[in-house]
Amino acid sequence: MIADPAQRVEELLAENKRLKQELDAKTATAARAMASFQQRALLMEITRQQNEDLDRLAGELARSKKVEEERAREIEEAARLKSEFLANFSHEIRTPLNGILGYCDLLLREEGSRLTPHGRRDLSIIKSNARTLLALINDILDLSKIEAGRAEVIRESVETVPLVEECLATVKELLKGKEVETRCQVAPDCVRAFTDPLKLKQLLLNLLSNGAKFTDAGELVCTLEADGGALIVRVEDTGAGIPPDQLPFIFDKFRQVDGTSRRRVGGTGLGLAIVREVVNLLGGTIDVTSSLGRGSTFTIRLPGAVDASTLPLHAATAEEPVPLPAGTTTTVLVVDDDPLIQHLLRGQLEQEGFRVLVAVDGIDGLTMARESRPNVIILDIHLPKLDGWQVLAELKSDPALVNIPVVILSVEEQRARAFSFGACEYIVKPVEPDRLVSIVRRAVQPGAGDILVVDDDDDTREMVSRNLRRAGFTTVEARDGEEALLRARVVKPSMVILDLLMPRIDGFEVLRTLRAEGQDVPVLVLTGKSLTPEDQAILKEGLVRIVTKDGVAIEHVIREARKALVARRVLEAAKLPRILYVEDSPQNRDIVRRYLGGDFDLYEAEDGEHGLERAARDTPDLILMDLSLPRIDGWEATRRLKANAALRHIPVVALTAHAAREDQARARAAGCCDYLTKPIERDQLLTTIRKHLAAPVAS
Ligand code: ADP
Repeated sequence: MIADPAQRVEELLAENKRLKQELDAKTATAARAMASFQQRALLMEITRQQNEDLDRLAGELARSKKVEEERAREIEEAARLKSEFLANFSHEIRTPLNGILGYCDLLLREEGSRLTPHGRRDLSIIKSNARTLLALINDILDLSKIEAGRAEVIRESVETVPLVEECLATVKELLKGKEVETRCQVAPDCVRAFTDPLKLKQLLLNLLSNGAKFTDAGELVCTLEADGGALIVRVEDTGAGIPPDQLPFIFDKFRQVDGTSRRRVGGTGLGLAIVREVVNLLGGTIDVTSSLGRGSTFTIRLPGAVDASTLPLHAATAEEPVPLPAGTTTTVLVVDDDPLIQHLLRGQLEQEGFRVLVAVDGIDGLTMARESRPNVIILDIHLPKLDGWQVLAELKSDPALVNIPVVILSVEEQRARAFSFGACEYIVKPVEPDRLVSIVRRAVQPGAGDILVVDDDDDTREMVSRNLRRAGFTTVEARDGEEALLRARVVKPSMVILDLLMPRIDGFEVLRTLRAEGQDVPVLVLTGKSLTPEDQAILKEGLVRIVTKDGVAIEHVIREARKALVARRVLEAAKLPRILYVEDSPQNRDIVRRYLGGDFDLYEAEDGEHGLERAARDTPDLILMDLSLPRIDGWEATRRLKANAALRHIPVVALTAHAAREDQARARAAGCCDYLTKPIERDQLLTTIRKHLAAPVAS
């Protein structure tokens, strides 16, 4: 049946509408899908771009990392080159400086009396400038090492008193001519510390030398105290002080409060910067308080540096801080017409606390000796008006003056004559300060006893002893054989005057025991016994001189004593210690030759190989070894010496321009017992040589 057309249209229209609606819905869905797709595509594009960016960034990062690594390597290399440069530079600059300082020293010592005062002053200025230059180089080297993190800390148990003493002795140079007293107080619980001794010394030296530089009168005091486990080091002066506004900056590099050309005192401006770095390195702190015109106090605190486990036994008994030995008021009369010698001796002796009087000719010398009765006389031989021999003879023939010890100081070598005239010591000019001071000390401290007088008869013993003392000898007495042996072992007399007939241990027994113990001391037998041929034989074997008591004047004993002592001193003086110096620089050899001349027998070698040959041939008492040597270097040469059983006992002191601690460690590892850095200081060289010559031989 056919539907109504209108209805049909109606239906179609509705259908159409529905379809259209459907289409619209679908179109909308499609549009939405399309939009979302586009959005996703957009996101993808963004992500892609971001990935690309990231890749690029990663590439850039990798590249810059590479550049950084490259740069780090370059920096490391530059630091290494800098250190190497500084080490070489210091080596290279020390060598000519060594020459400048050494030759100035020699000129002053050898030609000093012929130079005009102007010339001497100019030379001193050259020397002091060279020293400043050296100090600057050392400071720069030290600081650069700490900054490069290459300074190592080696903690060990340290005896503080000798260390402080050494530092004070060094800065005393700077205090010459100033009225500044130095004092040091070390509390009993810090006579031993646990820290790096070289670093502690560097701290003390820097602070003390600043104190010395900036103080014209008053005191410079160094105190060591313990606070818990911390070591408190205080350096206090009564000097110029530091303005408050400058205090925060004084530890900066190259910072000087008065850094203008008007500065009175020299300096590099690096001292305190180094102090701060070293204190940091030791894990400590530093404080300063100062008041203008009144002085400054630097206080260092080093935690853990008081070594509780190694507290010394004597710490328990000592209650007071240990003061350093103070100088005595011993008077020394210097009889010398040379103003330079007068000046030198005065400086060296006054610094040690002696009172010094000066006489400019022989007559003046005798007058002053009579008027002021000095404790010791230092006498030159060539003197105006009355020469030294006449002065000596006069002194020794005057009962009031005969007991004053006389030390002859001359350019000539006439020991035997001087001793037989009654001098107690003979020094050939130039003399280094240490030796001079120790000779003067020995001369005025008769405690050690030159002659041991052994007799059981009180009257005889006292008479002999008194007469010997009047003749200028010092004596120790013993009442019997046993006491004689005990005393001889302790005081090591230069001579024994021995009675034969004594109770228990008699003179023969004493003599036998002395010889059996290896004591080669001269013995003078003073006896009332009539000697049998057997007695005589025993005494002859014991190498004695014999004086019979009956009817023999005491002068005879004294003459014999003098002869024996002269013989011994001449013998001792003739035996100069033998030193081998291995060094390729002729200039350094020349300086050391002149430094050691007169006091030592010097042998030389120009390289390690030659050094080894000479050591084997001459077996010297000590070897001074340069380290940078042609053919076999000093380290290797020392190793070979120490590997040789016949030579290993010889102390080897390294003497080199290598300032670095590693070189020092290598030298010690090779077997060197000590290390001296060029430029070589004459006094330091001699002190070091003497120290090792005196030390017992290590097995
Ligand atoms: P310098 O080599 O100039 O002494 P430092 O770094 O040791 O260099 O000291 C820096 C400055 O600090 C000095 O120039 C000085 O002005 C001042 N100073 C340091 N110690 C003292 C002191 N004990 N008394 C007065 N001033 C001092």
